[in-house]
Amino acid sequence: MKPLESNAYNVIKVKVVVEILKPKVFVTRELFDDIIAKMSELYEVEVWDKYYHPPYDVLLSKAREVDALVTLLTDKVDCNLLQSAPKLRIVAQYAVGFDNVDLECATKLGIYVTNTPDVISDTVAELTWALILAVAKRILESDSFVRQGEWHRTGTPWHPKMMLGTELKGKVLGIVGLGRIGTRVAKIGSLGFGMKVIYYDIVRYKEKEGILGVEYKSSLEDLLKESDIVSLHVPLTKDTYHMINEERLKLMKKTAILINTARGAVVDTQALVKALKEGWIAGAGIDVFEGEPIPGDHPLTQFKNVVLVPHIGSATLEGRYRMAQVVLENLIAFYEGRKPPTLVNESVLNVRPPGFK
Ligand code: NAD
Repeated sequence: MKPLESNAYNVIKVKVVVEILKPKVFVTRELFDDIIAKMSELYEVEVWDKYYHPPYDVLLSKAREVDALVTLLTDKVDCNLLQSAPKLRIVAQYAVGFDNVDLECATKLGIYVTNTPDVISDTVAELTWALILAVAKRILESDSFVRQGEWHRTGTPWHPKMMLGTELKGKVLGIVGLGRIGTRVAKIGSLGFGMKVIYYDIVRYKEKEGILGVEYKSSLEDLLKESDIVSLHVPLTKDTYHMINEERLKLMKKTAILINTARGAVVDTQALVKALKEGWIAGAGIDVFEGEPIPGDHPLTQFKNVVLVPHIGSATLEGRYRMAQVVLENLIAFYEGRKPPTLVNESVLNVRPPGFK
């Protein structure tokens, strides 16, 4: 064999070896084509291309084979799955929340968990405001009033008492969780609508209080009693599970509106249905539910003063694209031996430092 040919042969051999050594990544849903293309240049990528999420047994069998998982909040990444995945080193979640991942177990096993915070905070804040306005101004009721011909049937274009809603200016907006999203919602309420903004959080943000003109409430009960709009922005944890329960809903004003764009289980759904039925509160705007996707005849669908949307808090092209970029950045950082930019379980660094295979 001539030397040139031998070199060519070696190049091919090296390429084959590199291909074989590429980390295997399982992506549990179709993301953007160009992001997947970039990911595929670096890793051996398999994408679950169905509309529905991979069933648990499929996820389990993929986890057994791969080095990295790109997951959504619909994927149950429990300790059983993590322990069954000998090569798994990183779970790159395509979401801000990561309550579907057993973080403690991942950390113990030295598995990195990342999320996509901040890049969709404005998107979620906008949706929160869409819900506040839709409920306060009775937008859906009014739309159906027009479409169903009821307006026409009244025979008059205008009546002093037709579709009366709530003015926001000067009202009290209560933010539960003044983190990234809660802060944006608070800013729009305070500076945009001229509302008085109060917040409850386990952390007190004194600097933000000055900048945004928001007031801290050390008790959730006080916030609920005083607010005209209550907007939830806490993560789902064992402490926030059913944080808004029957007892607390009873504390709210009869004229108040509850907005949930955080996680369904932060609110006790049965208690909320009771509150709406018995008029403890005036309405609700809900993006997230216990047991998603909810059926069309779910008890919450019976109320005209409730606006329901199918977990679309982050659903903008811009937001979702940035989320995919962050997922890729996290994978790249991890495989270059750097700390992923949005690592969730910092203490994993003590178990398996960056670069440690
Ligand atoms: P963040 O971490 O910036 O803010 C959360 C805030 O909640 C923090 O200030 C934290 O101190 C506070 N908090 C935590 N536990 C608390 C408790 N027990 N009591 C009171 N306050 C508590 O998070 P973020 O980026 O603002 O996102 C908030 C949540 O919104 C996420 O965890 C996620 O579940 C949800 N989310 C929903 C969508 C959607 O599509 N609807 C999209 C993105 C995020």
